[in-house]
Amino acid sequence: MTSSTPLTISMHPRDNVAIVANDGGLPAGTVLPSGLVLRDKVPQGHKVNLVDLAADAPVLRYNVVIGYAERDIPAGSWVHERLLKMPAARELEGLPMPGDAGVVPPPVLPPLEGYTFEGYRNADGSVGSRNILAITTTVQCVAGVLDFAVKRIKSDLLPRYPHVDDVVGLEHTYGCGVAIDAPDAIIPIRTLRNISLNPNFGGEVMVLSLGCEKLQPERLLPPGVIPIEDQRDAALDVVCLQAEENVGFMSMIDAILRQAEVHLQRLNLRRREVVPASELVVGVQCGGSDAFSGVTANPAVGFATDLLVRAGATVMFSETTEVRDGIAQLTSRASSTDVANAMVREMAWYDNYLQKGRVDRSANTTPGNKLGGLSNIVEKAMGSIVKSGSAPISGVLSPGEKLKQKGLIYAATPASDFICGTLQLAAGMNVHIFTTGRGTPYGLAEVPVIKVATRSDLARRWHDLMDVNAGRIADGSATIEDVGWELFHLMLAVASGKKTWAEQWGLQNSLVLFNPAPVT
Ligand code: CA
Repeated sequence: MTSSTPLTISMHPRDNVAIVANDGGLPAGTVLPSGLVLRDKVPQGHKVNLVDLAADAPVLRYNVVIGYAERDIPAGSWVHERLLKMPAARELEGLPMPGDAGVVPPPVLPPLEGYTFEGYRNADGSVGSRNILAITTTVQCVAGVLDFAVKRIKSDLLPRYPHVDDVVGLEHTYGCGVAIDAPDAIIPIRTLRNISLNPNFGGEVMVLSLGCEKLQPERLLPPGVIPIEDQRDAALDVVCLQAEENVGFMSMIDAILRQAEVHLQRLNLRRREVVPASELVVGVQCGGSDAFSGVTANPAVGFATDLLVRAGATVMFSETTEVRDGIAQLTSRASSTDVANAMVREMAWYDNYLQKGRVDRSANTTPGNKLGGLSNIVEKAMGSIVKSGSAPISGVLSPGEKLKQKGLIYAATPASDFICGTLQLAAGMNVHIFTTGRGTPYGLAEVPVIKVATRSDLARRWHDLMDVNAGRIADGSATIEDVGWELFHLMLAVASGKKTWAEQWGLQNSLVLFNPAPVT
């Protein structure tokens, strides 16, 4: 985008603001193609009002009221967050429900057939995109020992098992010093349990325990929970550091290596096989968003989401505080009243959770979001929600639950990048799509993360961190459909083993459990 051609982007004909697309923004005095003259310098991604706005007038972007004018704002002004009053959150009563008069059901999308990838078929029917030995932990106390052991496994054992991609310690801050019988403790516990069963770990479950912790191995993984036939009734494979037979540190390390080798032998026998695209389980989220997120990357992800749903795959969208302001759109798109009610239940739970901390959804936006042109959470939400495409929403997961069905699923999670990713791992994702405008090097050890830049400037500067440049949509060199298809093909390639940039550099963020229950 050269700065000599002023370019603004409107999302809807009724919008009375547009965003400036040019790198570096546009100076005051710029004449837009419409003839409108900018009164202020407007940074890239920030809003200019196309008409005079009287004080208290609604400001529309995405044909949605993102705020009300704080004072009279003459046309051509920079409409930043200090000029906008944020609207109240939509009540959770009286929402449009499937079947209501005037509620148009979402379109039935035609099936998309013939696409495949090469994945690892698991005994429970799920498919992995990687073949990883994961060692589960019951408590943070064992993390240092596990780090030491994982290094040893990588240097001494892994070279002998060439068909195993990696060894990962599932470390976390939970397990002791927590009110484990609090009702909400179910969330971190089932999250850890379900992450241990992620399709990328091939059904091999091995646990490292300290011994005296509150989260005992049998509580984390009760009998029968492991889906593999021959492990279902077998005793859980647990290495306990406090066990009497462990005399000295090296005896602990030896015990971990001995057990790890049993699992490595089995994992090493696995081979990729051709499976239909319907076996993809894709978690989508965004982080470090800017005003382009909702113009370029997220609409392209939305297009890819529709392709995935048409191919019979599973897509999860999440980030409750970023969809809360779009709840009326979402309930209208639910495949049934039960699904719509489940979404409302999750929103109400989160409203209450925020209230307990004496904040509301507006606590979501970051300084970077605002620098990037997003004035408030309503504007951010409208750009975030488009990741979900246009398909009917066919299911809802509470935080930490495991998927039970295919299609487009609302997986309720906080918007925090690491917590959202951790919860989507628990749900069973095998590919993660992450859009970013400000830029983040985010990556996970457990599943490949495909990162999508919202702006060409970011894609150029972070050329060896961003996997896809959706900024080409704003530049006019690609369409939303082009980038959506590119993403779809890349997901199939990555699920088949192609490495993402984050994998090439070994960038791995920590698992971060969502624990709404008290600690002690
Ligand atoms: Ca996020």
